[in-house]
Amino acid sequence: MKPVVALVGRPNVGKSTLFNRLTGTRDAIVADLAGLTRDRHYGNGRLGKREYIIVDTGGFEPDAGEGSIYREMAQQTRQAVAESDVVLFVVDARAGLSAQDHDIANYLRRLGKPCVLVANKAEGMTQGAQLVEFFELGLGEVLPVSGAHGQGVRSMIETALDQVPGLAEDEEGEAEDNTGTIRLTVAGRPNVGKSTLINAWLGEERLVAFDMPGTTRDAISVPFERNGQRFELVDTAGLRRKGRVFEAIEKFSVIKTLQAIENANVVLLLLDATQGVTDQDAHIAGYILESGRAVVVAINKWDAIDSYQREQLERQIENRLAFLKFAALHRISAKKRQGLAPLWASIAQAHASAMRKMPTPVLTRLLQEAVAFQAPSRGGQARPKMRYAHQGGMNPPVIVIHGNSLDRVPDAYRRFLEGRFRKAFDLVGTPLRIEFRTSS
Ligand code: GDP
Ligand code: GDP
Repeated sequence: MKPVVALVGRPNVGKSTLFNRLTGTRDAIVADLAGLTRDRHYGNGRLGKREYIIVDTGGFEPDAGEGSIYREMAQQTRQAVAESDVVLFVVDARAGLSAQDHDIANYLRRLGKPCVLVANKAEGMTQGAQLVEFFELGLGEVLPVSGAHGQGVRSMIETALDQVPGLAEDEEGEAEDNTGTIRLTVAGRPNVGKSTLINAWLGEERLVAFDMPGTTRDAISVPFERNGQRFELVDTAGLRRKGRVFEAIEKFSVIKTLQAIENANVVLLLLDATQGVTDQDAHIAGYILESGRAVVVAINKWDAIDSYQREQLERQIENRLAFLKFAALHRISAKKRQGLAPLWASIAQAHASAMRKMPTPVLTRLLQEAVAFQAPSRGGQARPKMRYAHQGGMNPPVIVIHGNSLDRVPDAYRRFLEGRFRKAFDLVGTPLRIEFRTSS
């Protein structure tokens, strides 16, 4: 499971600047996709091979009173902190220590979470002298960083990840992948019908569920078999298991949703036809895309809307979820058990696409055919030259293209190549990443 790192601190200390720096590379990939709204507070970070989820908790007002507009925010911050594995507590090296820093420190100390104290805006400061006052917080050493200039950011995240217990073991666990089993999660806002759907599934006679001995971290994991295909329903967020029946739990957790997505091969994104595509739906969809997981979209409660509303909804999906065009779209009613069977075919298809093996000779031939059909335009000095391609990963499939002057390949050309590769390998329901490696 990816560890969760929470950025905590009073407003203006530079949390979002650090957040942007830590998530920067991935953002660049998805930034210009039409219709993609991203929740700016959750992102993926990577340090070498170690991946983590980074949460920007926004402003932190530890003693927001009753009725305060900060109360809801503070509630969310507390939830994020509680669910994180390690906290980066950010203070402002220029402004110095404030009363609010003390309050936050007290709060964090009571929690007993691993915590790294970070003094931001420390660029150009002679180490030590000005930072001594932060020792008063009783959180040990303070790391000077500059989010704006990127100084110290790497060692900051390294220090944080080193404090996550059991990380090394988790990483090993992931290596022994259970091939042949499709790990599936159902993601969606509260009340879209996740538990109704899962209960409908598990009530099916053709589906055989096995009981699993105690799982950790109240994660739900149900292995089952359907038509000879093994599945594992992984820690589907927002649900609690009661015997064979699932029930929605009150407090929806974004972090648990993100972790469930990360732990799955295929995500079934469930929408509520009666509510349309909400911002929260788009956020979850954006995160699925960013995670690279395969995805199937199902609009639930199709029974509850009339034909006019259906038309409206179809259009809204086309606009707001345009970036998931590669995914199969189903209209279902979990409650009436309508349209459920075809989901399985799409899930299997998405999984097979995500795991497709793409041999180097085939990729290279397809690449050459594509270039012969339409060469990339000249970008600046030299025309990009593509030599060969190989597969760089699965789930999501990654195609690495080697050649010269490939740093200038226009985005439209990348999409053109993507379309051709998708067609040739029949990739449906999985994102496809194309990376360029320039040798000169
Ligand atoms: P947040 O409210 O904690 O998320 O803080 P922001 O990231 O929005 O930053 C608040 C202000 O501090 C902005 O004006 C940033 O440009 C500035 N800032 C952020 N990081 C640095 C830094 O490393 N050095 C300096 N000098 N300013 C910074
Ligand atoms: P969850 O929070 O995502 O697990 O959602 P639930 O499964 O608890 O469902 C929320 C509400 O939506 C319940 O009142 C369900 O009865 C209702 N619901 C679920 N699926 C359908 C459906 O297909 N059609 C209609 N009309 N209502 C549904």
